[in-house]
Amino acid sequence: MALKGLDIFKLTPKTNCKDCGNPTCMAFSMKVASGAIDITKCPHLSEEVLAKISESNAPPMKTITVKAGDAEYKLGGETVLYRHEKTFVSKTLYASFICTGQDEATQERKLTEGLKVDYDRIGERMYCEFIFVNMGSDNQDNFTALAQKAAATGRGVILNCKDPERMKAAAEAIKDAKPILNGADASNYEAMNAIAKELGLVLGVSGADLDELYDTVAKLEAAGNKNLILDVGTVSIKSAFEAAVQIRRAALLNKDRTFGYPTLVNVRKLAGGDVNLETALASLFTVKYGSIVVVEDMTYDKALALYGLRQNIFTDPQKPMKVEPGIYPLNGADENAICATTVDFALTYFVVSGEMERSGVPVNLLRG
Ligand code: SF4
Repeated sequence: MALKGLDIFKLTPKTNCKDCGNPTCMAFSMKVASGAIDITKCPHLSEEVLAKISESNAPPMKTITVKAGDAEYKLGGETVLYRHEKTFVSKTLYASFICTGQDEATQERKLTEGLKVDYDRIGERMYCEFIFVNMGSDNQDNFTALAQKAAATGRGVILNCKDPERMKAAAEAIKDAKPILNGADASNYEAMNAIAKELGLVLGVSGADLDELYDTVAKLEAAGNKNLILDVGTVSIKSAFEAAVQIRRAALLNKDRTFGYPTLVNVRKLAGGDVNLETALASLFTVKYGSIVVVEDMTYDKALALYGLRQNIFTDPQKPMKVEPGIYPLNGADENAICATTVDFALTYFVVSGEMERSGVPVNLLRG
């Protein structure tokens, strides 16, 4: 349980020295309890007290760092259930599916044509950040080779495999790509944990139901691993949705840190091959509360809906989407090029600049 202001006050020196920038130790303690100031701003606390307050007042949901090619992303770290309460901080990322059971031509297409969606919208790159490499029941020996092909694309890799030996071989082969190892469950968590810890990788955990998932996460935490992602499962759409919501509510409302982790949702499996249902489910879990959503492919028709939705959900409603004032040269414009003006609202700016870029005419776009 997080310490309240009075509990924190009892641990301060109560000298009101103002070194933390606050008039009294009580004022400082109240701000620490509300999250407005960091406990380390008081230089007069012992290591022991600092550790006690930091641990008890840490955010209920951990922030997990993942690598996707050269980019690094944060997952989790959310503090509210609804965007209008404050803001969501870590956007949903998407993964396209590939499997050892698919024929080589299909795999090749998915690693080339299937990754073509890649464009900018309002200053943000829209592309599939991950490839979800599934070890199917056929051709299991190809798992490492397929993982290497996926890593060579420069996208992030999620290895989906329940067999610790095969997981280890693939993870070691692409360890520099920092893949997510999605495969720990009640039966194999010790072996999977050893691989993840040895290679310093994020571990995905699943369970037959929420109770089993909870127990497995607790055991992994007891073994010293708090670098986890929770797979909500693919038994049914209903159970996956319930799991995603219950996990987030347990973490944020009940402050139960065992469920304070980001989640992974495989909507490709849930949709059972229905493309329209898959897109609808990907939208649903973008809103509630998938940190990584796995789809069959990221096509333009799917991307336009999903990325537009994501951009709306994961912008801070308290900060207007504005473009910095300045002169923006387009199409190689120099000081002799014509000038045009626009407003600071980001959507307007990017619509205007997009049209001007398409015209091919050198122009200095002024945002005053
Ligand atoms: S620096 Fe520490 S001791 Fe001084 S006023 Fe702030 S909380 Fe109190």
